[in-house]
Amino acid sequence: MDSFGRTVDYLRISITDRCNERCLYCMPAGYHGWEQQADHLTAEEIVRVARVAAGLGFRKFRITGGEPLVRRDAVEIVRAIAALPGVACVGLSTNGTRLATQAQPLRDAGLRTVNVSLDALDAEIYRRVTGGDVTAVLAGIRAAVAAGFERVKLNCVLMRGVNEGELWPLAQFAAEHGLPLRLIELMPVTSGEVLNEKNFLPVGEVMQRFAQRDELIPQPDTRIGWGPAKYYLLKHTGALVGFIGAMTNLHFCESCNKMRLTADGKVRPCLGDHGELDVRTALRSSASDEAVRDVLLAALKGKPLEHHFRDQYQPGRPMTAIGG
Ligand code: SAM
Ligand code: SF4
Repeated sequence: MDSFGRTVDYLRISITDRCNERCLYCMPAGYHGWEQQADHLTAEEIVRVARVAAGLGFRKFRITGGEPLVRRDAVEIVRAIAALPGVACVGLSTNGTRLATQAQPLRDAGLRTVNVSLDALDAEIYRRVTGGDVTAVLAGIRAAVAAGFERVKLNCVLMRGVNEGELWPLAQFAAEHGLPLRLIELMPVTSGEVLNEKNFLPVGEVMQRFAQRDELIPQPDTRIGWGPAKYYLLKHTGALVGFIGAMTNLHFCESCNKMRLTADGKVRPCLGDHGELDVRTALRSSASDEAVRDVLLAALKGKPLEHHFRDQYQPGRPMTAIGG
């Protein structure tokens, strides 16, 4: 439990800050500040942190990045964490571009859930947002469904004037394939310029637009996984849509249950707070797990009450470096 009585049992682990896409809101144009390979935690180090965390009561682990599937040992990392005592669930966040070939090996390694980012169905709009190819992502989603994961969810970041025309088609796609769709407010995690009045689209406005087309039935008891979304069923379309109002929901942080481990070995208690504690030094200088445990507990103790995204927050390093 943290200092505010919240149970924190969810660790999001970024295994790389590299990515094969270039999302407008995540990786600033021209960003080359990637850590050197030697700065990245090794698979053994990552699994060691997960083992210590599981010993402290962490139950849910998510492998993320950057794009986790660009790391060659991603499947092995999943396998090792899934086998740790105390681990209830290992999930993965991916842009989906490499899922077509990786879905089954990941499933066989013990991965239970997959979140795939899908900001648009239209190939041109998708390319404009991510720099990538939506066909590969759609093949990845099909492979994930075929591999029999317990849950495959779709994530879409809301951007006015960029993908707002794609939101209804995405809801229809989600309904057709029986996949929950989560719509996420843009957060200022990459650069000040990305988040401005012009392209910020609040979840409330999207709900109003959806309500003009369909009836939104609140699903207050629906908590799909460990995430912060508020779910609604679109009565006639049949889509289950989760709204993540990270910026406009003033109660957003009250139910926060997570901390992050960055690819370069920092424990970050909150995405919207610059505080990070170095666990890499503990991993590399001490054979005992005590030192690792102390860093995790100190991070937990220092977890802030809420994020500072509404207070002229200036990101210190981009989302790819922190881990989404
Ligand atoms: N590469 C994987 C992917 O795209 O899903 C995993 C890492 S990515 C950083 C994790 C999630 O963070 C994605 O759903 C992405 O859309 C989201 N994300 C990145 N930058 C964001 C921002 N500025 N605001 C809101 N969500 C963001
Ligand atoms: Fe890469 Fe994911 Fe960031 Fe897009 S959101 S640049 S796919 S890490």
